[in-house]
Amino acid sequence: MKNPETDPHRLLKNIFGFDRFRPGQEAVVEQLQAGNSALAVFPTGAGKSLCYQLPALMLEGMTLVVSPLIALMKDQIDFLVGKGIKAARMDSSLTAEESRQVWDDLWNGNLKLLYVAPERFASERFLQRLRRTTISLMVIDEAHCISEWGHNFRPDYMKLAAISRELRVERVLALTATATPTVANDICESFEISPAAYVHTGFHRPNLVMHMTPCTADERDRLLLQRLEDRPKGATIVYVTLQKTAEQVADRLSRAGHPARAYHAGLESEERHEIQDRFMGDPEGIVVATIAFGMGIDKADIRNVIHYNPPKSLENYMQETGRAGRDGELSHCDLLLCPDDVATLENFSYGDTPTPESVRGVVEEILKQPDEFDVSVYDLSARFDIRNLVMSTLLTYLELDGILLSLGPHYNEYKFQPKRSSTEILAGFDEERRKFLRTLFSHSKKGRTWFSIDLGEAAKSMGEDRKRLVAALNYLEEKGELVMQVAGLRRGYRFLKRPESADEVASTIHERFLRSEKRDIERMEQVVQLAGSSECTVRQVLQYFGEELGANCGHCDRCLGETIPPMPPVPDARLSSAEKEKLAALIQEKHAALQTPRQLARFGCGLTSPAATKAKLTRDPRFGFLSHHRFVTIALAAKKLLVSV
Ligand code: ADP
Ligand code: MG
Repeated sequence: MKNPETDPHRLLKNIFGFDRFRPGQEAVVEQLQAGNSALAVFPTGAGKSLCYQLPALMLEGMTLVVSPLIALMKDQIDFLVGKGIKAARMDSSLTAEESRQVWDDLWNGNLKLLYVAPERFASERFLQRLRRTTISLMVIDEAHCISEWGHNFRPDYMKLAAISRELRVERVLALTATATPTVANDICESFEISPAAYVHTGFHRPNLVMHMTPCTADERDRLLLQRLEDRPKGATIVYVTLQKTAEQVADRLSRAGHPARAYHAGLESEERHEIQDRFMGDPEGIVVATIAFGMGIDKADIRNVIHYNPPKSLENYMQETGRAGRDGELSHCDLLLCPDDVATLENFSYGDTPTPESVRGVVEEILKQPDEFDVSVYDLSARFDIRNLVMSTLLTYLELDGILLSLGPHYNEYKFQPKRSSTEILAGFDEERRKFLRTLFSHSKKGRTWFSIDLGEAAKSMGEDRKRLVAALNYLEEKGELVMQVAGLRRGYRFLKRPESADEVASTIHERFLRSEKRDIERMEQVVQLAGSSECTVRQVLQYFGEELGANCGHCDRCLGETIPPMPPVPDARLSSAEKEKLAALIQEKHAALQTPRQLARFGCGLTSPAATKAKLTRDPRFGFLSHHRFVTIALAAKKLLVSV
């Protein structure tokens, strides 16, 4: 585009068909137009996407949008394409043909917005290609994920700041619906966003009525039915923690005359779409869902959001209740607080923390490596029984502590399938390149139809930079000479300093994991504590996000003068002697994957881990046999038994 339209108001009207900006939008657009990076914190549904969709049309280069969910991207792209805006996504579901089309469009200037998931940057090829384009704006959706203090820290996100610098992005826009002051500060520091460019609209949604009911597990179904009957009729989401609860509750509701559908990540995607589409068009539909539901839902008239199980944090609470009443009409949010759920939620957090032994094992393994090395997260995960995501976090900690420098992830194994004979392919190149390509091909091994090549090895023996090898293969693929596949993801690192002792490093890292576990538990307790105070519920929630409410909300239970009893105490029953015997028998079997109290507690709670999965222990009938107990209770019992057997 030669002369892009630069008047935001005209674009808003002519392209998007909106009469005016919503609060905050114009301020963000102005910052970006002035060349500044910005952070926008608006509640869900407030219109964050427009803050980059509109500037994308005014800026010369391309807008790169990093978004965690493919489903969200699809909706956004459909919306944009419907308005005649050129947008596409790049993800693993595209065929080679489709992704070539996207790159062609990009290089020919036919693409204004490109959506990608953060994992995409793990591909060296992807980064190399991006370096060749001008990125006017990089958008980080769900930006709270970059902060260790956020409720949803993702190591992939932590690297985005460095990537934005590497790609020489002209400006960054970070977006989130939930940021405590600490998290907002973290985001601003990472992306060098000045305080003036931190735009927030406040979290208060006056049309949402907040109710809270502490209860026991037995009362819950009755309460749920009662709520459905008490509240004005309308589209309703009932949130639950576990997939099986979604099924059970939907079933019970249907039998009680409230036709409800269960929605969770365990369903086939076709069924999920069908449920979602049906819900979108139904003014009185009920969906009983895990948090997998609602991410991409843009339904304005959701009248009720009921938490059958409590959310993991106040951030989640804001996000999930925020789906109600987007049309501004009065809507109800009900929170059933049941002590049994505390154990379930707690166990998730405990289940993630690796044992000190496994952290130490990883650290020792890393310290054994030469100054420059690469590792496979997948292999490390299996060997040291640490979940993939947690292993990534561990490596990120080593980077944050200045021990390792990331050289970027790369695929070590490239596979290609030539479309013509090598003589024909080589014919088009000059002497030097022909020689180079011939040598490159000679390092590949021929399978049945595919050739495979270990790039690390090939680069070493050719005395070439592996980047040149990657570039050459990319080039051939772009020209349609071959089809390519990559495998064997490894991450490259260089030592910045060699710590004196593995012990110290391992214990620092383990403490970090314990702290993050503690923060998760505290987040959950903050939800429970809502019940313990007599203050306006909305005021309490907003305080957490650093916002002072002028006057009380006026319509929560407290404001209406109801006294809410505190939540019944969390059951802390000890293991019965039969359970203890069963646990002791398990210990005596001496499974390699069940050696430590934490491993045993995970197994007892029914939480998977790489080693237990690999040893097929998750299919053992005893898997999850103690899931009604708290993680800590089981770990403690296991610790005692380990000493005595
Ligand atoms: P968020 O990402 O903040 O949750 P979205 O960007 O998905 O919210 O926007 C929610 C809805 O608001 C979308 O349907 C969008 O088209 C609409 N919207 C955004 N800005 C405006 C505006 N200025 N006027 C009217 N509707 C708008
Ligand atoms: Mg959004």
